[in-house]
Amino acid sequence: MRTQEHLKLSSMAALIAAPWLKTAVWIPLAASIFIDVDHYLWHALVHRTLSLKAALRYFAQADPPQLPEARLLHHPLVLGLLLWLAVRTRSRLLGLILAGFLFHVSLDVFHVKQMGHLKRTLSAQAKHICLQCEQQFAALQLHTVYYAPLLDRYNPQHFVVLCPTCHERAHQI
Ligand SMILES: [Zn+2]
Ligand SMILES: [Zn+2]
Repeated sequence: MRTQEHLKLSSMAALIAAPWLKTAVWIPLAASIFIDVDHYLWHALVHRTLSLKAALRYFAQADPPQLPEARLLHHPLVLGLLLWLAVRTRSRLLGLILAGFLFHVSLDVFHVKQMGHLKRTLSAQAKHICLQCEQQFAALQLHTVYYAPLLDRYNPQHFVVLCPTCHERAHQI
């Protein structure tokens, strides 16, 4: 899921939680956004550059590799460890940070599931033929044509299936 979508959904959740959490609501909100800093840190280490622009370009590829080492803060083990620490130390701050992380990761899990389903059904419907070059491929990629808000987000009409080459090209336009 894109950062701007996370930002929008997290802000909505924060608005709902605000009456209970009062001013502390910014803690889970910030946590749910800054969890993605692990992507940047991984890119900085592996590609030996602190450039945020280069990192953004890397993750804006048509089909960026989903490496677990680039998503360290999203990892169930790290989240479990944080939960253990939060319970152990009875830290409200840690608990709120964890709530933000979990909100973000739940959205990611839901998103990946929806996208996987769309890719399978649309590929089968297209008989594994790329919409652009009309050649047959064993594995097509899902391309978002229109980023619809909320409930309409995973409407099949907003997606097409393309071969890796045509997909890369679609992102360069
Ligand atoms: Zn193609
Ligand atoms: Zn795409």
